[in-house]
Amino acid sequence: MDEASTATTAGSCLCGGIAFEISGPFEAFFLCHCSRCRKDTGSAHAANLFSSTAKLTWLSGQD
Ligand SMILES: [Zn+2]
Repeated sequence: MDEASTATTAGSCLCGGIAFEISGPFEAFFLCHCSRCRKDTGSAHAANLFSSTAKLTWLSGQD
């Protein structure tokens, strides 16, 4: 495995109620301003990560 395929990214919301970890490479990252992304996020754009192999693990806050 090369370094990119073992990279782990962690994130959470500001209140700390939700935390997650993503392991694996990302193929693309877009800030999309189309009407669907604006409606979906309720803001001016959506931040979208695309990967066919990365694994998402919920650490807390999963419903
Ligand atoms: Zn869009």
